[in-house]
Amino acid sequence: MSPVEWASRVAKEFEYNQQDVRQATRHFIKQMEEGLERDGATMNQIPSYVTAVPDGTETGLYLAVDLGGTNLRICSVNLHGDSTFSITQSKVAIPVSIITARYFSELFAYIAEQINIFLQHHHENLLQKYQDSKDSSPGHIQKRLLLGLTFSFTFEQQALNRGTLLRWTKGFNIPDAVGQDISAVFQTEIDKLNLPVLVVALVNDTVGALLARSYTSPGRTKTLLGAIFGTGTNGAYVEKMHNITKLIRSGKFAEGEMVINTEWGAFDDELLVLPTTPYDLAVDTESVHPGIQMYEKRISGMYLGEILRHTILALVSTTTSIDVPLDSKLNQQFAIDSSFLSMAAADDSTDLSMLRKQLNVSFNINASRELAEAVKILAVAIGDRAARLAGVAIAAIVLKSGRLSVSGCDEPSKPGGTPQPRNENHAGKPISTSLGRSHEKIDGQDIIDIGVDGSLFEFYPGFEDGIRSTLKDIDGIGYEGAKRIRFGLARDGSGVGAALVARMAEQESKLAGSTL
Ligand code: ADP
Ligand code: MG
Repeated sequence: MSPVEWASRVAKEFEYNQQDVRQATRHFIKQMEEGLERDGATMNQIPSYVTAVPDGTETGLYLAVDLGGTNLRICSVNLHGDSTFSITQSKVAIPVSIITARYFSELFAYIAEQINIFLQHHHENLLQKYQDSKDSSPGHIQKRLLLGLTFSFTFEQQALNRGTLLRWTKGFNIPDAVGQDISAVFQTEIDKLNLPVLVVALVNDTVGALLARSYTSPGRTKTLLGAIFGTGTNGAYVEKMHNITKLIRSGKFAEGEMVINTEWGAFDDELLVLPTTPYDLAVDTESVHPGIQMYEKRISGMYLGEILRHTILALVSTTTSIDVPLDSKLNQQFAIDSSFLSMAAADDSTDLSMLRKQLNVSFNINASRELAEAVKILAVAIGDRAARLAGVAIAAIVLKSGRLSVSGCDEPSKPGGTPQPRNENHAGKPISTSLGRSHEKIDGQDIIDIGVDGSLFEFYPGFEDGIRSTLKDIDGIGYEGAKRIRFGLARDGSGVGAALVARMAEQESKLAGSTL
């Protein structure tokens, strides 16, 4: 078989048809509901304790630390109060020694030191004044900058500023971290350096993306969902409090709405509906945490290159006489970054010169045009499946929110399709809630605004198109519904979002009559 024939066959295994996405969307809604009902469900559906989204009028200077899967960013964010902000930031790659450190405190000692360097560079006066002062009165302590930590891992939240890690993902593995109070460990390390910084909020990056988008979104649309497609994938959305039964039972809340961090990377870890090829299995088996984050392992930046690597190895050994030496990079886990897929998908030259050059430079493979074409077919198949799968989460949340029905979406649901969105709103009347603002329209109908962060969404050619193709395939959304869904990049989402939550914590404590 020729390489192109072989690749085309394998590409078929990655096709994800209309029936597949419909079934998966139904299952997604079911697992969302299970997560709202009880702890320990497949999708954690973690309450964020964020009960208001910003309207763009917020002001103030805040610090934000974003611990992503790949990078650590330290920023100071100045909210101008007119939907704009200025941000000063530094970014470092997280050293491997930290990713797999023995103690949780080592991670935060490293971050505190990076904050120290950041303050020395960008807020030297503030730092000097604080550290030179012999004053230890409450007034002095209040001069600390309030900090929001964006922590892009799975943690259970007990309050805006309190959370404990449930499990590591994205290759992180610091054994003693699980169960520890994240902000407390962080604050201890900050205080060791005598920095004028107080950790007041713990934010998941998806919650940050949602809030940042809501602060900056054009018009006065209320953002429904913040989604991340970067190293990992996850989403946070606005849920009605009365649907969050596990929280209602606790007696703490009764009405209004709350932002829920879905932890959708774990969607269908049971593999009841997700597509699974031999290459997916290989990626999972070799991963740090086999058997979990199955949805994430088919979608996110950390894994797409790996899926491709396994298909290329099979392609080369099945259809060519090329001997891939054992020490070739192609045999190394994570040797292919997902940006390679973007490059391959974007190479439209007739002789695929860019792709062939990369195959040569990166893997020492002297690829014929034909072999390169086969690689491109595989890369596109893997990337497109990821985008179609990403659409499932978005479709499910849009349906579940009932917002398409709010201003009379005309798309009727066909029989036998996805479950009807539970529409608790008064059809025809735009709802006004604590999280809501007045709506922007398309063709006289409300826009559903979605903030997205992550390099994969930003750079993989056609990722949004792939998501949209799924949305159109879903009963209850369809072409008309998809038109009303607007995606906006929530760049700096985690920084601005964390600053906004830090501000929220400050406002809450003021309301409660205490100072931070
Ligand atoms: P993080 O998830 O750490 O916050 P990003 O959103 O930048 O950071 O995502 C990093 C991930 O995006 C990495 O897995 C990387 O492989 C992937 N990535 C970076 N550039 C591209 C690109 N051009 N196309 C596709 N994926 C990319
Ligand atoms: Mg990120």
